[in-house]
Amino acid sequence: RKSRPQGLIWRSVMAYDETNVFARILKGEIPCRKVHEDEHILAFHDINPQAPVHVLVIPKGAYTDWDDFAQRASEAEIARFIRGVAHVGRLLGVDEPGYRVMSNKGVNGGQEVPHLHVHLFAGRKLGRMVP
Ligand code: 5GP
Repeated sequence: RKSRPQGLIWRSVMAYDETNVFARILKGEIPCRKVHEDEHILAFHDINPQAPVHVLVIPKGAYTDWDDFAQRASEAEIARFIRGVAHVGRLLGVDEPGYRVMSNKGVNGGQEVPHLHVHLFAGRKLGRMVP
């Protein structure tokens, strides 16, 4: 990004790994159970669901994680992504009685796939998050 708002910390981030599994899903090299796709985002069912509804939402841009996205994406891309995630919640019909959105970042966050994704969990009353 050219202009970075003042008052925030900016730090260079790890290079994006083009061979990660979600990059391959985006290229169509690996199949997925698609929920929604548009120019900017893809949503698909997690292969190992942890709730009755467990969908992953990813931006099509090459961002490693939440922090990389926050630092390099434009305001428009960030807004489109957040709006897209909420759209997927409505599309799945889980906006009521609700769902949980979560994104793991890095080793301590438990991130396995180095392409930004948020998990959307729904379909039952979820337990309190205990790390
Ligand atoms: P993370 O731990 O990085 O936050 O989450 C990665 C998620 O991707 C996991 O929940 C895992 O089950 C899911 N996943 C890994 N490989 C694939 C795949 O090839 N297809 C789909 N649909 N999900 C995957």
